[in-house]
Amino acid sequence: MNHYIGAHLSSATGFYQMGQTALKIGANTFQFFCRNPRGSKAKPLNPADLERLRQLLVEHDFGPLVAHAPYIMNACSKDEGIRGLAAEMMAGDLALMEHLPGNYYNFHPGSHVGQGVETGCAQIAAMLNAVIRPEQKTVVLLETMAGKGTEIGGRFEELRAIIDQVDCQDRIGVCMDTCHMSDAGYDLLGHLDDVLEEFDRVVGLERLHAIHINDSQNPMGARKDRHARIGEGTLGEPFFVTLMNHPRLSALPFVLETPNDDAGHGQEIARLRALCGEN
Ligand code: FE
Ligand code: FE
Ligand code: ZN
Repeated sequence: MNHYIGAHLSSATGFYQMGQTALKIGANTFQFFCRNPRGSKAKPLNPADLERLRQLLVEHDFGPLVAHAPYIMNACSKDEGIRGLAAEMMAGDLALMEHLPGNYYNFHPGSHVGQGVETGCAQIAAMLNAVIRPEQKTVVLLETMAGKGTEIGGRFEELRAIIDQVDCQDRIGVCMDTCHMSDAGYDLLGHLDDVLEEFDRVVGLERLHAIHINDSQNPMGARKDRHARIGEGTLGEPFFVTLMNHPRLSALPFVLETPNDDAGHGQEIARLRALCGEN
């Protein structure tokens, strides 16, 4: 079976259009923002547009999609108003995602800004418990982070601490980001199996639903979070082939967040498919 490979696409021209772009670049999954990533304002919902995309996805055998929460969201801000805004944005995005059932919604857990990891994790879980409804058709994913500043999610234990406090256990999972994990100090390049074993022990591989495939501009442990194109960073092309062909990972959606335009992502996808023996 072919891998599910895609890239982060712009939703500015609409959801159906995004599906068309995905087809054009050889993707069978993709990631998108439900709203302007740097602002909080949601666009008016267009159910017909979402329905057209849903049909396109079925017709072309797409794997699960990954929606990405806005970057400005911080569920563990010191400011109650900002925490409230995070909950509001996530609730709105999840309402939109009900029109695209069976997909994922990924978010950066947040930065505790000096409150401490424990308080941060509790605040993140509190937000999740306020917005996740047991009957919703979207699984919410915590992204593994680079551990920049007071960012939560650089350690698997932090993800575990959040998950432990979530009420709807079957609506919460994890999305790995290879650049972030390497930057956080996990030796993906040298010891992929050990890292996965550690993840399995601490979080559980059954929680892992998607992977952001990004090379890193910085060496392991740098905590910088600067993505590089596949093969142009410190992880290197052969690592990604190993990763994608790993028996525990190969069926997951792989999403590029590399510094590239749609055409460039298309070339990266083609290259990865060729290296995986697909056409
Ligand atoms: Fe992200
Ligand atoms: Fe990412
Ligand atoms: Zn990043």
